[in-house]
Amino acid sequence: MTDQTDVDRQDALDSAARHAARLLHAFGWLRVLVEPGREPRPAPPLLTDTARHWLGIQSAAEAADRVANLRAGLSAAPTGQVPIRLEMLTAQHHALTVVDQLVDRVERAGARARLGVPATGRNIVRVLDWLAGDGGPPCWAVTTGGVAYRRGALADVADLRVLDHVAHRLQEVADRARMAIGMTEERTAPYPHQPCPACRRRSLEIDATLRNERYWTVGCTSAACRCTGPGCPCLQRHAIEGRGHVWTYAELPTLHVAQQRHRLSHPVRSAAVGHGGWSSRRRGER
Ligand SMILES: [Zn+2]
Ligand SMILES: [Zn+2]
Repeated sequence: MTDQTDVDRQDALDSAARHAARLLHAFGWLRVLVEPGREPRPAPPLLTDTARHWLGIQSAAEAADRVANLRAGLSAAPTGQVPIRLEMLTAQHHALTVVDQLVDRVERAGARARLGVPATGRNIVRVLDWLAGDGGPPCWAVTTGGVAYRRGALADVADLRVLDHVAHRLQEVADRARMAIGMTEERTAPYPHQPCPACRRRSLEIDATLRNERYWTVGCTSAACRCTGPGCPCLQRHAIEGRGHVWTYAELPTLHVAQQRHRLSHPVRSAAVGHGGWSSRRRGER
């Protein structure tokens, strides 16, 4: 196995763990927001085929209720009982369905221990932990109920394509769950230590969306800033030509060394180039 394969594997495992954590966070909100009136802001409509189907069932049931009420001589006006928000349920259902598919895929692709249960709203923490863990090597964990389970089974899988597939699907499903709850902002901010050692712009941004700092990343928001491979001033151990510059939390010491070198070789310029370009540039525009 080449060094590069190791890096790609770890990238995929970290990415899967990161998006599993994003999904888990969003899923908690989906459960809270099923009750109307509790949302911080209106969620965008999410009219999938399933949602339409469920809405159809609900309106048919409501219509039947009204007819029954009329026949009983009661008011057909709403009873004051608020309906649950179906789009939140639909998004939960979608997330659980996808997670089940991914679990199945990982079990068939070589996980050393089967999960053995379908994902539900109650066990989603354990299921995602089984699947992606924290991106580290697989290990055994025990639930509060005393059940032992494998953590990070994805890392048991040898096929890099499966790793990539799982990471991408987790990202999709996390994005969709976040959209349903109206969570559109990632927590990003300008990184206090500027500039980027590669492009010399003050365009470094930290993404601290997740509570666990292990998943924090610092990236250069400049679209033109591309790694030139070995010898690139980014000093990344696995400098890959053409890639954008992103340092994981664990790599921040390397970033700081690179910045120090840059300061020594461009003492005047590094101060002069500070234009605070990050603020006029949003992450999505890269
Ligand atoms: Zn840069
Ligand atoms: Zn580089």
